[in-house]
Amino acid sequence: MPTAEIITIGTELLLGEIVDTNTRFIARALRDEGVDIFRTATVGDNVERIAEIMGESLSRAEIVITTGGLGPTVDDPTREAAALAFGVESEFRPELWEQIKARFREFGHIPTENNKRQAYIPHNARALENLWGTAPAFLVEREGRVLISLPGVPYEMKNLLSEKVMPYLQSHFDLNAVIKSRSLHTVGIGESRIDDLIGDFERLENPTVGLAAHRDSVGIRITAKAKTDKEAIALIEEIEEQLREILAEWIVDF
Ligand code: ATP
Ligand code: MG
Repeated sequence: MPTAEIITIGTELLLGEIVDTNTRFIARALRDEGVDIFRTATVGDNVERIAEIMGESLSRAEIVITTGGLGPTVDDPTREAAALAFGVESEFRPELWEQIKARFREFGHIPTENNKRQAYIPHNARALENLWGTAPAFLVEREGRVLISLPGVPYEMKNLLSEKVMPYLQSHFDLNAVIKSRSLHTVGIGESRIDDLIGDFERLENPTVGLAAHRDSVGIRITAKAKTDKEAIALIEEIEEQLREILAEWIVDF
């Protein structure tokens, strides 16, 4: 089963000016396909720092997805950073320039010379045509791993993810797994006491069992991974039954 990391790019994210909703959206889409995500990161608009974190993520995960920094201005650094991360040059793709010009015509605008920057992608990269905006997305493959760079604008990112990226991942990786979660709610018992009672379950690998303390209750989340929804639910229910037995006097169902 492949693992993935998500990197969101943009100084405005680090400054707290916008909320990073892209990570959440991509994380859920990957989770629904059974892809494990162990880390996500946010980095500012700086070519060297982006390249560094791309390299780190690619050393750990098979799939690395970035969003942002694909615009036409000098401070849109993702193309250059990806080239640096793979140690290759960026190259001009005339067909991308044609696509960008066509998209502008559709929107009734004339591209400027700096839009030409968007027609440069790393050597050996594969362009993903962006039918929802002007910035071409791209992916770079190496040794069974892939870096996929998507635009920051959520509407464009979401469409590219569902129309281009998911089909690509399905055909290149073994994604035939689903991840399902279910939560039990307890009241009148503290987190540490629950931990004493069900500590052994918290060490399981599939399903996993985790605690989440809220103000008036403690949640117990059971998360299972399997080939089908049915199998995942069966795994969850087996553990759920045992937990319900141990914690019977504290579990509440809403
Ligand atoms: P563009 O061609 O529009 O410049 P881009 O790939 O360069 O696209 P950014 O400039 O990084 O994207 O971001 C464009 C806008 O998209 C931001 O101003 C912000 O509103 C939104 N955005 C960027 N990243 C995120 C994110 N992680 N979560 C939510 N919104 C985001
Ligand atoms: Mg931009």
